[in-house]
Amino acid sequence: MTSRPLPFWLAGAVVAGTFAVLLWLERRQPLRRPVEPKGQRLARNLAVVALSTAAVALTERPAIGPLSGFVTAKRWGLLQWAALPGALEVPLAVVLMDYTLYVWHVLTHRVPWLWRFHLVHHVDRDLDASTALRFHFAELVISIPWRAAQVLVIGVSPLAFSVWQTALLVSILFHHSNVRLPIALERRLVRVLVTPRMHGIHHSTVRGETDANWSSGFTLWDRLHGTLRLDVAQEEITIGVPAYQAPGDVALARILALPLVPQRPSWPSDGPPPRARGARRDQLLA
Ligand SMILES: [Zn+2]
Repeated sequence: MTSRPLPFWLAGAVVAGTFAVLLWLERRQPLRRPVEPKGQRLARNLAVVALSTAAVALTERPAIGPLSGFVTAKRWGLLQWAALPGALEVPLAVVLMDYTLYVWHVLTHRVPWLWRFHLVHHVDRDLDASTALRFHFAELVISIPWRAAQVLVIGVSPLAFSVWQTALLVSILFHHSNVRLPIALERRLVRVLVTPRMHGIHHSTVRGETDANWSSGFTLWDRLHGTLRLDVAQEEITIGVPAYQAPGDVALARILALPLVPQRPSWPSDGPPPRARGARRDQLLA
């Protein structure tokens, strides 16, 4: 099936609208107390976002857009062979892209040279909607071969790719946001989707908590792989990476250079000890 991507204005309006609503909610009902001055951090994160947006526009878009059109025209990849109707093909593509992104996220933590880049996202000492887009531009560029393999093997059409990309952006803005949802609502949501308290655990300075909750959309993948943790209350979490907790460690020039300079062990032996599991108030585990 040949298909056109979602119009750029529509995808852009959905993502920008989500960001604006989350910024408003973060002011009204914050989940975690900020560590750094908000304005300074926001300016730094937006500078990183500007660089990565330019990198994606110059590299990923010109590579993946035509590849997706080619895959569809030649009927390559699982979903193109299956020749499903669009109403089935697009949701299935979104699910399979979400799963393979889970695998990529695990690799960015497990493979040392990939972690050098993903670390830049994790050293943010606060977590909010601006963190969601704060990836080192080089991390986005080195993920292009993985993205191309996803499109090729799954057989992702331009429409399915743009729907997945828009849904992913909305999802990561939401689950990085510092919005306090009513706990009963969030416990229900987390059965299916990644939520702010769940992803907050992934950004904890405690290693056993960072090595959990790798899903980006559906929580199913963490459930299937036994990597889901819901048993940590947000107020007990320190956000960031233990080796980079000083204000100077996260300055703009430092984080841009971080993948290319000698790095400290992210979890030094005197880092925070594993936290005992157990029932506490305001955690997702009911
Ligand atoms: Zn991560």
